[in-house]
Amino acid sequence: MQFTFRAYDNLICSLYENDYLIKDYHDYDESEKCAILRHDIDYELDRAVEFSVIERDRNAKSTYFVLLTSDFYNPASKSSLKVFDELRKNGHEIGLHFDEVRYSSGNAEWCEDYIIENIQKEAELLEKIIDEPVKTVSMHRPSKNTLDSNLEIPGLVNSYSKEFFKKFKYVSDSRMRWREDVQHIISSNEYERLHILTHPFWYKDSSLSIEKLLLEFINGANKKRFNIMNDNITDLESLIDKNNVE
Ligand SMILES: [Zn+2]
Repeated sequence: MQFTFRAYDNLICSLYENDYLIKDYHDYDESEKCAILRHDIDYELDRAVEFSVIERDRNAKSTYFVLLTSDFYNPASKSSLKVFDELRKNGHEIGLHFDEVRYSSGNAEWCEDYIIENIQKEAELLEKIIDEPVKTVSMHRPSKNTLDSNLEIPGLVNSYSKEFFKKFKYVSDSRMRWREDVQHIISSNEYERLHILTHPFWYKDSSLSIEKLLLEFINGANKKRFNIMNDNITDLESLIDKNNVE
């Protein structure tokens, strides 16, 4: 499968063609043939909107998991809130993407209660930011302990729980690579329930190599910074020449 918006649209279509209902973490029924669409937002929010429109146009809902602790985007900023509004308007849920690395210190032993406590703390914060209940969590860079522990988090659905990993066939495009052929998994009809993780970050109008895509993101940051600074410093262009921003 290519990493293009069209290919993602085709993926949704082939789910329908193979009689999968598109459900979320709260409304799937054990008896149904269904797929849950999940998105982790690791680096930038913008491309999530394009994904959410594709899904809306196909009557498909999904869950977008956002980080509170990212160095790449600020979920409390005005532009982020605009993105969240768009995602919700298009019928989707916003969940918490939790990076436990943020809480690990040195050789301190992994502690289930400590992880759960911090997930709840972040979920509460995100709720305040988006002004809506946060009902689901996914993990960013989970440790083996977290993966193995089947964490039960009061008030939150853990998308990494055994329920969604053992009873569903899980496939993901992590590192811009499908470890298994997702199209084949859908069309083979081998599984009653699918749990599909895609990162909108990897997708474009036309397919790029991972190297090109990452360089474009990194090198494009300067222009983005210029624009943000321009919103914060009056007459920025009297101080620096925009043409010198590479
Ligand atoms: Zn992640």
